[in-house]
Amino acid sequence: SANRLAGFGTSIFSEISALAARYQAINLGQGFPDFAGPAFLKDAACSAINADLNQYAPSTGLPTLRAAIARTWERHSKVSVDPDAEITVTSGATEAMFATIMALINPGDEVLIFEPFYDSYPPNVLMAGGIPRYIRLHEPRWEVDFAQVRAAITPQTKAIILNTPHNPTGKVWSRTELSQLAAIAIEHDLLVISDEVYDRLVFEDYQHCSIATLPDMWERTVTISSTGKTFSVTGWKIGYAIAPNSLTEAIRRVHQFVTFASATPLQAAAVVGLNAGEPYERQLLQFYNARREQLVKVLRDAGLYVLPPQGTYFVMADIRDLGWDNDAEFCRYLISEIGVAAIPPSAFYHDGYQSGMVRFCFAKKPETIAAAAEKLKQLG
Ligand code: PMP
Ligand code: GLN
Repeated sequence: SANRLAGFGTSIFSEISALAARYQAINLGQGFPDFAGPAFLKDAACSAINADLNQYAPSTGLPTLRAAIARTWERHSKVSVDPDAEITVTSGATEAMFATIMALINPGDEVLIFEPFYDSYPPNVLMAGGIPRYIRLHEPRWEVDFAQVRAAITPQTKAIILNTPHNPTGKVWSRTELSQLAAIAIEHDLLVISDEVYDRLVFEDYQHCSIATLPDMWERTVTISSTGKTFSVTGWKIGYAIAPNSLTEAIRRVHQFVTFASATPLQAAAVVGLNAGEPYERQLLQFYNARREQLVKVLRDAGLYVLPPQGTYFVMADIRDLGWDNDAEFCRYLISEIGVAAIPPSAFYHDGYQSGMVRFCFAKKPETIAAAAEKLKQLG
C-alpha cells in the first residue's frame, strides 16, 4: 500500500460492529439508528426512483436540495447563504470533510484537532500531507483550555477542525467558547472546518451555534453537515459543505474528482425531509430526549457514573467505579461476556489516552435499550 496509509489502521466502528455481530451483542456502539427512517422520507425516495431520477445529479448537488439546505440554514442561523455559490452536496459529511481538507490543506500545513476526535479527521489530514496537532478537551466536562490552543499554534498552522455538538462527548460548544476560538482563528488567520452533523440533536437549554455566523468568521469557515442523523438514514450518505464562494470552488474541484455527484433519488428525498422543517425537528428531539433519559438511567443503574450529554446521540459512561481503567479491554469484556457493545474512546486520541470512559449510543428503539439494561445488570 501507499506510504500515505502508514499513519492509520481500521476504523474502530467496523471493528466493534464486527465483534458485536460475532457475539450477537446488543449494539450500542457504532452510531446509527436501529429503527426505521420516517415513512414520508422513504416514500419520497421511492417516488424519486419511480420518477426516474436515477441518473447523475449535477456535481454540486440538485438545485432543489441546495435551496432546501439554504432555507434550513437561514431558518436556524438567521444568516443568508447563496445555494448556487456557497453550498456543495457530498456523499455524507465524511466526503465533505475529506474534500474540504484535500481542497485547503497543503503538505506541511498543521491542522489543530480536538481530542477525543471523530476518527476520520487525522487520516484525512494525513492523506493531504498535513500534520495533525492535537489538543485535549478536559473531562469530566470536556472543557477547552484556550492557552493550550494558543500554545499549539505555529507559523505552519493552517486550520482548526471543530465538531459541535461533539462526538463522542456530547459537548455542545457554547457561544462564548466559539467566540474565543474565533478570536484565535482571526488573530492567526486560520481556517475553521466545523463538523455540525448533530446540529439538530441538542438537549435541555443548550443551543447549537455555527461558528461561521460569528463576526468575521464567514470568510474563513467551512460548515459541514449531513442528513444522516437528522433523518435517521445514515446509510443514505447525503451530506454537504457550506462555505464562502472562494472556499466552495476549491471544495467542488475536489468533489468532482472523488465522487463527482451523490445519489440523485436520495438527494430528491432529502429535499422533502428538509422541507418538513421545524415540526419534524421537534418530534425528532422529543424522541431522542426520551432515549437519552432512558439510557442515562440504565447506565447509572448499572453502576456507571454518567454526565448526561448536551447534544448528539451518545453518552460517555465512566468505567472506573466498576474497577476498570482500560476502555478497550472493558469493551471486549462487555461484548463477549455481557452481550452489549460500546465504543472505546481511546481510539479517538492520537496517543490512546485512557479517559476512563466508554461511549454508548442511544439512537436505538426503547426495547433495544431495555434489552441492554437487562444484560448490564450482570455488571454489578
Ligand atoms: N462527523 C461526525 C462527528 C460523525 O459522528 C459522523 C457520523 N457518524 C460523521 C461526521 C459522518 O457523517 P456521514 O455519515 O454523513 O458521512
Ligand atoms: N459516526 C458514527 C459513530 O460515531 C459511525 C460512522 C462510521 O461508522 N464511520 O459511531
